[in-house]
Amino acid sequence: MTEALGTHYDVVVIGGGPAGLQAALILARHRYSTLVLDGNRPRHSATLEAHGFLTRDHTAPNELRRLGREDVEAYEDAEIQFAQVSRVRALSDEESAGAEASQGAAFEGAFAFVAGGVPAEDGSSVSTDPREIASRRRGGVRVPYRFAVEAKGVRGTPARAVFARSVILATGLTEVLPALPMLRAFYGTSIHSCVECDGWTQRDRRVSVIAAPGVTDLYERAVQLTRFTGALTVFAGQGQLGALQEFDLVDRGVVVETREVVDVEGGPGGVTGVALADGDVVTAEAVFVRPNYVAKLDFASELGIDFDGLGLVAADAHGRTSVPGIYATGELTGPGPQMLIVAAGNGAETGMAVDRDLLGL
Ligand SMILES: Cc1cc2nc3c(=O)[nH]c(=O)nc-3n(C[C@H](O)[C@H](O)[C@H](O)COP(=O)(O)OP(=O)(O)OC[C@H]3O[C@@H](n4cnc5c(N)ncnc54)[C@H](O)[C@@H]3O)c2cc1C
Repeated sequence: MTEALGTHYDVVVIGGGPAGLQAALILARHRYSTLVLDGNRPRHSATLEAHGFLTRDHTAPNELRRLGREDVEAYEDAEIQFAQVSRVRALSDEESAGAEASQGAAFEGAFAFVAGGVPAEDGSSVSTDPREIASRRRGGVRVPYRFAVEAKGVRGTPARAVFARSVILATGLTEVLPALPMLRAFYGTSIHSCVECDGWTQRDRRVSVIAAPGVTDLYERAVQLTRFTGALTVFAGQGQLGALQEFDLVDRGVVVETREVVDVEGGPGGVTGVALADGDVVTAEAVFVRPNYVAKLDFASELGIDFDGLGLVAADAHGRTSVPGIYATGELTGPGPQMLIVAAGNGAETGMAVDRDLLGL
């Protein structure tokens, strides 16, 4: 991890997945002091291989993140720390002015010994006044410190309390899987949630689809999976398939089951079946689950950002939220769960937007 441990940053990025790290890379390359705080508990850590990321197909997700951190940390203006953010709040005008002044004091400590300024190349003298140094270093930034971010250390890393001009929320989603006791044992290897990521992996096998209560896109998932297998069983809970949808699935060769699912079964080689309440077990070599997804942002509740009807953060195409200076990127914004490369693309968009906004463009 980077050693800087500063208190004032142009941008604090919360979350070090592909979205947050990509945003940080763009910003560090634009010479913004950028701190990434990452709890390091990504939802894809259940899986051994990530698929579909150009040049990194089949790379372990944790290795992908390590490589990402290495790219970001190569820049002198970037710092990454494992820490769980517990609070983000807006500064009052008074606090904001105090943060500016205290940054000046930090510079004063570093430069006070150069009485009368430092000589410039043209023979003149460059002022060492801390506020002027701070303003030169900012390179055109027109935005004051607006936010305070607090984080708890994880596994021995220090707690942090820092000021930021802008904050990027890149904390991903938490998934609520169907409540089946053995599901976690196979999740990421022979039970998956992302059809685009793992449909190919499970091609031509006996596949089942199970959705969490309240899920409304079971039909779409099932149709997507018909690209990969001709042996597909869909377990539809109450109200999860309309009559026309069920008819269409049967027409596509899909078996539709309405009996209640109580668990999955399997062994060292992976999942082998779906256990039903009536005692039957339906053979399955792979299962796709459709979880419910939640954007957990309790730490940012004081900011008052808007959410959309699905519980995701409402943001424009560049990640600007309803609160100026607060951005949201990656899959905690619409349309929600997606692929690594899409999240990274979102992060790049947001990094560029933050640059423009900090410059007042
Ligand atoms: C089992 C599984 C397999 C997958 N396989 C693939 C695949 O093969 N290919 C593919 O393209 N996609 C895959 N995905 C999807 C992919 O993981 C996501 O699309 C992607 O990780 C989203 O990126 P993100 O940066 O938005 O969020 P995440 O990668 O989830 O990163 C969010 C980060 O924020 C951190 N965080 C959360 N709250 C806080 C806080 N308060 N303070 C500090 N840090 C915090 C988390 O610890 C985490 O590190 C898979 C997903 C799962 C669940």
